[in-house]
Amino acid sequence: MTNEQTVEKPKPLKRGMLDNVLEQFNSAADKIDLNPNVRKILSITNTEIIIHFPVRMDNGEVEVFTGYRVQHNNALGPYKGGLRYHPTVDIDAARALAMWMTWKTSLAGLPYGGAKGGIQIDPSIYSKGELERITRRFTYALGENIGPEHDIPAPDVNTNDQTMAWIADTYMSTKSTSERSKNQHVVTGKPVGSGGLEGRDRATGYGVYLTIKFWSEKNNETLKGKKFIVQGFGNVGYWAAHFLENEGALLVGVQDAFGSVQNQKGITVEDLFNYGKANNGSIVGFPEASAMEGKDFFALDCDICIPAALGNQITKDNARSIKASLIAEGANGPTDVEGEKILIERGITIIPDIMCNSGGVIGSYFEWLQNRNGELWQMDEILEKLEKKLRTTFKKVTAYSEENNIDMRTAAFSIAIARIEKAYILRGIFP
Ligand code: NAD
Repeated sequence: MTNEQTVEKPKPLKRGMLDNVLEQFNSAADKIDLNPNVRKILSITNTEIIIHFPVRMDNGEVEVFTGYRVQHNNALGPYKGGLRYHPTVDIDAARALAMWMTWKTSLAGLPYGGAKGGIQIDPSIYSKGELERITRRFTYALGENIGPEHDIPAPDVNTNDQTMAWIADTYMSTKSTSERSKNQHVVTGKPVGSGGLEGRDRATGYGVYLTIKFWSEKNNETLKGKKFIVQGFGNVGYWAAHFLENEGALLVGVQDAFGSVQNQKGITVEDLFNYGKANNGSIVGFPEASAMEGKDFFALDCDICIPAALGNQITKDNARSIKASLIAEGANGPTDVEGEKILIERGITIIPDIMCNSGGVIGSYFEWLQNRNGELWQMDEILEKLEKKLRTTFKKVTAYSEENNIDMRTAAFSIAIARIEKAYILRGIFP
């Protein structure tokens, strides 16, 4: 017998999105010497809702699901942010994504705060009817925790205009007859014809493309002939690729949840989109390109890399192998802090998520105004307004980054946080 004990060494914890967003926030807060009381408030979320709710499945059995809504901050206006249906949705993911929304809406100069939520679920294993019942029951359970002047959800990963239509209908059904139509803007990203905005479907991807175009123009370059890769070929990835291709850029690699394909001679965006549609949403087996190992995807030869899927995709494990000189963050939080340090050391430019993908929430703001004012806006006018707003933000961020000799992410965070700080200083803290 020996009294020696084997003590297991603690395993290093995997960095999560929440660690990243907090580190990004603190680094910008240090740079702008943020008021310490405002720092305390912004370091934590205002409200966190976790709901377990039952739904009857097609086979008659009941399943219990877990849904989240985290409201980070509303100093500038109602909470705003998407709903994600994915197995990785949990309280920390919702907290991180809600914080990014606060910075994003502030940076874009919108009268909104930040929130995020979703359901921990793999939606691909449920029928359309089951997804409708899951969505409606979650909406009902959220009750007055959402509302057109309080907290306004929108689509995110694995949710779309159909999901938003179910939410709007359920929420409006809980109101008295005369109040119903006043509540349509409880969600944005609804189908056109049911309160939706022309062009909201492409707003995020269009914004991603625009920020890349602005960057090229600033550097006296053209997009013609530039090679790009896209991780995630959903709403954001597809539309960004669509607009880049229209400008003469060449899509050479795509990765989705099912696999990765590449072709250095170019992949036709619409062909891949139509193939995916006919193939249960998967790009695997696309005949115009060859399959490749997922782990090598970010090392593909290209000029521009667009991560447009999930968070924490570019890390210390792959940042050294990236060939692109520009990363345009279509996704929220795709680059972790360690990965970013390596990219910066290597002189690779990052257009940060809170600016790069902000076309979506700007489009959502237009939809909200359209519903609130009883108007119907036209596509041309919408895309023009979106471009103007994004160009203003881009100019502000690049100017701030050059004046202060800091990267674009720290510049974007600094501008966003300073706007919220000002609101707190002006109005004080109750009581
Ligand atoms: P989507 O559901 O339409 O598409 C997601 C795509 O990512 C799909 O092609 C899916 O196959 C792929 N994917 C999922 N897991 C993957 C993995 N592990 N590896 C590679 N690919 C994977 O979602 P979306 O609306 O396009 O959102 C994509 C990203 O953009 C998310 O980070 C989201 O938060 C962000 N975003 C979306 C919007 C919007 O308006 N939809 C706005 C701003 C930011």
